[in-house]
Amino acid sequence: MAIERTLSIIKPDATRRNITGAIVARFEEAGLRVVAQRRAHLTQEQAEQFYAVHRERAFFEDLCTFMTSGPVVVQVLEGEEAISRNREVMGATNPANADEGTIRRDFGESVEANSVHGSDAPETAAEEIGFFFSQIDIVG
Ligand code: GDP
Repeated sequence: MAIERTLSIIKPDATRRNITGAIVARFEEAGLRVVAQRRAHLTQEQAEQFYAVHRERAFFEDLCTFMTSGPVVVQVLEGEEAISRNREVMGATNPANADEGTIRRDFGESVEANSVHGSDAPETAAEEIGFFFSQIDIVG
């Protein structure tokens, strides 16, 4: 098994409810290590750039408005198969469809306000980590 790094975002619905620690505990319990972390309040431009792949989707504007509605916590998580492991711990996009015990099932408010983002593949993980962090910020 390979050690990977993935980009995680704890979204504004979770910072608003002051549950970032509870979410980080889920990552750590799953064997994922926080090797970089910063609180940020995304600008409209940053949100649009980060979610550019969804530009044509009907929910794009709503998503960017939501992601700029409050602070987020951006993180790099490291561990064995970290990208897929994190996606498992997060659960399905829509909390209503997410498995029991997943972050989105337990904490998500809606398909949009679903508490966490996680990269979905090695290429996007590298790109998304580079969007927020420099090598010097990541301490494994
Ligand atoms: P993810 O990889 O599981 O985060 O899902 P996607 O890449 O498909 O979508 C990105 C984000 O857009 C999701 O995490 C949600 O916050 C939001 N989103 C996805 N589908 C919908 C939708 O149908 N409506 C709205 N309002 N937001 C959505």
